[in-house]
Order: sequence, then C-alpha cells, then structure tokens
Amino acid sequence: MDRIRDPRPELEFLTPYDAKDIKADVVLASNEHPDNIPGEILEWFAERLPRFPFNRYPDPTAKELRKLVAEANGLDAENILVGNGGDELIFDILLAWGGPGRKLLDMPPTFAMYGIDAQVTGTEVVSIQRKADFAVDEEAVIARLSEGDIDIVMIAHPNNPTGNISPETFLIDVLNTTDALVLVDEAYFEFSRHTMRPHMERHPNLVILRTFSKAFSLAGMRVGYILGQESVIREIMKVRQPYSVNAFSQWVATKVFRERVVFQSEIRELMRERDRLLHGLEELQGVESFPTEANFVLFKVEQAGALWRDLLHSHSVLIRDFSRVPGLEDCLRVTVGSTEENTRFLEAMRDILTQRRQAQIMTNGAHARHGSAGELGY
Ligand code: PMP
Repeated sequence: MDRIRDPRPELEFLTPYDAKDIKADVVLASNEHPDNIPGEILEWFAERLPRFPFNRYPDPTAKELRKLVAEANGLDAENILVGNGGDELIFDILLAWGGPGRKLLDMPPTFAMYGIDAQVTGTEVVSIQRKADFAVDEEAVIARLSEGDIDIVMIAHPNNPTGNISPETFLIDVLNTTDALVLVDEAYFEFSRHTMRPHMERHPNLVILRTFSKAFSLAGMRVGYILGQESVIREIMKVRQPYSVNAFSQWVATKVFRERVVFQSEIRELMRERDRLLHGLEELQGVESFPTEANFVLFKVEQAGALWRDLLHSHSVLIRDFSRVPGLEDCLRVTVGSTEENTRFLEAMRDILTQRRQAQIMTNGAHARHGSAGELGY
C-alpha cells in the first residue's frame, strides 16, 4: 500500500499539545517549584539507588503511596487512586464518565486539559464562560446543571490560569444540584489551603484531584492522585493503564510524602514571594494583576504578546502567554519563582514598560509638534 487509512475524524480538529520547550535563563512558565527536592532527600535516594529494582514492574496500584495519602486525608486506601500526574487522572475520569453521548460542564477560561481530554474521548463540552473578573457564573452553572443531563463537572480550585477560588457555598450548591461526577481540582491545594475534603462523606459524587508537581517539586516524576468514593475509584480503575505510574516515581513520591513537613517552610517562602510579585506588579504603570491563591499570578497589560516576546528575547525570562485565549485577552501568567528569579522578572518588566513609555512620549511628541503647528495655524 502507498497510503494510510485516515485516523478517527475527530482528530482533524486537534493539534498535539505543545509544551513549548523554549530555553531561557529564568523559567516561570509552568507553575513548577523553583527548587529541586531538598538535599537530604536527594542523598537518601543516592545511597539507596544501587539497590533499586529497575528490572521489576511497578506495583500497579501504588499501595504504599495510597496508604500514606489515605492516612493523611482520613480515608482508606480504597478511596485513593494514583496516576501519572494529575493529567492522566483527568483523562481517566473522562474515559470512565465521559465518552460519546455524554457531557462535561467546563468553566473557561480554565485548565485547558479538561476540554482537550473531553474532545479526545468524544465527550461533548458544555462551556459556561466565567465573568470578566474570572468568577464562575454561578447562576448559569446551577441552571444548566438543573437540566439534569451533565455527566461530569470539572472545576479547578484555585483556577488555573486565573488564580481565584470559587466560594465553598457555590461548590456545595453544585454538589446538591447534580448527580454528575464533580471533580474539584485541587492541584494548588498546598498553596491555597482550601479543600472540599470535608464534604466527601455527604456527597458521593465529589472527587478531589491533587498533584506532587507543584508544592512538592516533583513535576518531572509525574505523580498525582484523586480522593473519591471506593465505587468511583473502582470504575476509574477499569479504564486506567495498570503500570502508568512507574516504580521510580512511586518510590520518590512516597518518600517525599513521608517527609512533607520539610516542604512547609518553602511553601511559606513561596507565598511571601508571591506577595512581593503582586506588589511589584502593582507598582508598574499599565499593569493590572489579579488576586491569586496559587503559586502564580495572572496579569493584564497592553500588547501582552509583544511584552511576552520582549521578556524572552531581551531578558531571557519565560512566562506564559494567554493573550490569545478567549476571556484572557492581554493576559500573561507568571509562576512564583525563587527570590532572584522574581527580581529578574520584575526588573525586566520595569525595563520594557519604561522603554515603551519613552517610545510613546517620542511619538506623541512628534505628533504634537506636527499637530500643534497645524492647529495653531503656524
Ligand atoms: N490541574 C491543574 C489545575 C493544573 O494546573 C495542572 C498542572 N498544570 C494539573 C491539574 C496537572 O498537573 P500534573 O499532571 O503535573 O499533576
């Protein structure tokens, strides 16, 4: 044969996820932790690495890690499912509760993977756009859920990339209104400290997602987990890849979770740095930053796309450009980095905006000279 049969027609409208592997001195683009895991933990691994059983398949259900996570959350191991990053679990949920003829309620602008995975799994996306201040349109969501045909709701709490959380009363209303599976995505829980965990007993349709990628410095290991009813976990286990979480990642995440108190002071430090970033941005003319409960800050600035390019090309600072996303026009997102990284970012911003103003004054001046001559009849 000299040709290939077409793939699924739905793929025509999808493009592969572009993780934008752009090199820069200061990378504040993916909400990662600025530091590697602490030195003592690295040494602990280094000592034991020669005896690590690389030749063996991993434990398919990550028993040890599940047990630890369960204990920390006052649950049983059967209430926990560990995945290859939160991303995999979002996909698995859509495989189990979505699919052709089924519907996801999405509240954009939000984490793009909800919509992408819905498309891949043939799930219809019902979108209810957030308001101008990024608050969820609560009335519209509750009204739509009352129609009774939604199968899954996904809500990032705090929301990415906007940083805000929804009122707990609204989330409870959602849970009271629908029997859809409600995923409250708490990927940034360790920063926000807001959790819907206390509502799990009363609402069997509530599932909570967490990750090791942010507060625990393990984005490269790809480990996330969900908390849910045993019956829900059992259904999701039917669609998951049995060995998706590799043995090394399980080993590292288990140790890190055991040592999680060590991360507390760094989390506090990151939150202080976040405040410094917010203040720094507030002082810049023409920049509007939005309140955040996570380890990133969304801000609005004129000609955001050009500013993003200037940051990268003139200052080697990489942040995330959302300016072409509907509802996020002229918005950029910066991850809270180390003190030095945040300082470099703020200095670069100051530089670029000062240059812009000077260029503006020059052009305005030129216009004014021409203009005034005409207007005054000189
Ligand atoms: N949910 C949200 C809201 C996120 O921002 C992210 C990461 N960007 C994830 C889930 C997935 O994280 P991971 O796959 O790294 O666990």
